[in-house]
Amino acid sequence: ERISPSDLDIARRAHIRPIEEIAAAAGINAEALELYGRFKAKVDPARLDAPAPAGKVVLVSAMSPTPAGEGKSTTTVGLADSLARAGHKVMIALREPSLGPILGMKGGATGGGYSQVLPMDEINLHFTGDFHAVTSANNALMALVDNHIYQGNELNIDPRRMTFKRVLDMNDRSLREVIIGLGGPTQGVPRQDGFDITVASEIMAVFCLATGLADLRDRLGKITFGYTYGREPVTVADLGVQGALTLLLKEAIKPNLVQSIAGTPALVHGGPFANIAHGCNSLIATQTARRLADIVVTEAGFGADLGAEKFMDIKARVEDVAPSAVVVVATVRALKMHGGVAKERLTEPDLPALQAGVANLRRHVHNVEKFGVTPVVAINRFGTDTQEELDWLLEWCAAEGVQAAVADVWGRGGGGDGGDELAAKVAAVVSAPNSFRHLYLLDLPVEEKIRTIAQEIYGADGVDFSVPALKRLADIEKNGWSGMPVCMAKTQYSFSDDASRLGAPKGFTIHVRDLIPKTGAGFIVALTGAVMTMPGLPAVPAAMRMDVDGEGNPVGLS
Ligand code: ADP
Repeated sequence: ERISPSDLDIARRAHIRPIEEIAAAAGINAEALELYGRFKAKVDPARLDAPAPAGKVVLVSAMSPTPAGEGKSTTTVGLADSLARAGHKVMIALREPSLGPILGMKGGATGGGYSQVLPMDEINLHFTGDFHAVTSANNALMALVDNHIYQGNELNIDPRRMTFKRVLDMNDRSLREVIIGLGGPTQGVPRQDGFDITVASEIMAVFCLATGLADLRDRLGKITFGYTYGREPVTVADLGVQGALTLLLKEAIKPNLVQSIAGTPALVHGGPFANIAHGCNSLIATQTARRLADIVVTEAGFGADLGAEKFMDIKARVEDVAPSAVVVVATVRALKMHGGVAKERLTEPDLPALQAGVANLRRHVHNVEKFGVTPVVAINRFGTDTQEELDWLLEWCAAEGVQAAVADVWGRGGGGDGGDELAAKVAAVVSAPNSFRHLYLLDLPVEEKIRTIAQEIYGADGVDFSVPALKRLADIEKNGWSGMPVCMAKTQYSFSDDASRLGAPKGFTIHVRDLIPKTGAGFIVALTGAVMTMPGLPAVPAAMRMDVDGEGNPVGLS
């Protein structure tokens, strides 16, 4: 068996061009470009000499993923490269990787094989410091809140009813629950606190939904960080620090320009969690890309039941970034797993399992059609797929009336011919008219919005609300927050809220355990099952194989 080079090996051997060349080819004027070294730059939308956003959006989503990841980022990059190869003016818009998962399980999040964005090590590590800025803004807020309590607590904040925590961009389970303020009267007021990972901070979600600096300040001011002893919400604006938080984010909010291996310009910016937040790159980056390119290829976290639904019902309501096409990434491996095959046996040919598992893909593609957008299935080819399996899957898609193409952008690169057929099909869908619609109207009661998503998208019979969730619904009503869209926090592995129910389960109920109003981001999180907002590290973290060689080159990033 051939041993493939690692993603890092491929990235290191790739020809990387000075970022000024990429910027010039993308039509970015020099005044709008702020260099961060030779291969990274920020783009200042305020100085950009380009028309209003008009590029079409292609959203890359996926079937229900398996723990391996199905190659959404890889396909996003490869598809964009292939569209560029076909002569389209294209830009990629991706999330920034989070450091904690890189040191833990993931090892890297900049695509893979010959479809990656560069410089992969810098993007995966500290990049341009945006996550540091979000971390600082979050922790400045918490320091200011605790100081307010210490200095006399004029706002009457109840330290037992804080909803905001401190954050770090690290998987550190020991910090999930902490007691702060110990040590006596001059050391602050003791209270139970905790840490989330930076990507779970509401400030990250705000950062990614803000339309500009003024809107960023406004949204930061609207964040509810806790409640008073009288159970009234307390906001950042009540504390009067939205200006300071905006100041801490004013450089970070400018999108970061990098390039793919094939030289396609990419804006990599922002990265909110895909469960308790909406899971896509910043709106500012998407809109900046739409000012510069005819087609913007972007990605949403998890499967289409979560990522695509949130893109349509949360992000595309803030500004009109509705997609002209949705690519649903599927793999033969993952379909076989949904058809009942154990993880260890996915590399063996198994047509019956594929035939059983395809029900998962069927539900996802028809869900996309409910938004009035045409799906295109991208079969992300793995070396272990047999021709028989690939042919059967293509035939199934044709019989189902769904466009599909096998893509080998990982192995051959979008800059090669690995994604030509996929690109041609996507380009045809993009240029055809569509009739985008949101799944639900905002003036429906919150319960009804959740029920609509659960029944229409997940295929659930109904929704059960726990007693605390029902109480929270009443509070949401009382505080005038009912008009916000819903952000579902559900396992990505199943349409249901039980990660072990693969395929296309039927006859289940969605259990809403609690609701968290995110008044700055502007959505209500509905928690189904346990959601980890501070991940832990595995028994053998990816960090164990990481190093720097004698020349200062990175070692061991995936
Ligand atoms: P996602 O965005 O869905 O999490 P990624 O694109 O990050 O998935 O890919 C996850 C991992 O799988 C990466 O390490 C990538 O190199 C690898 N991968 C993706 N597509 C393929 C493929 N066709 N063959 C082999 N490995 C792949």
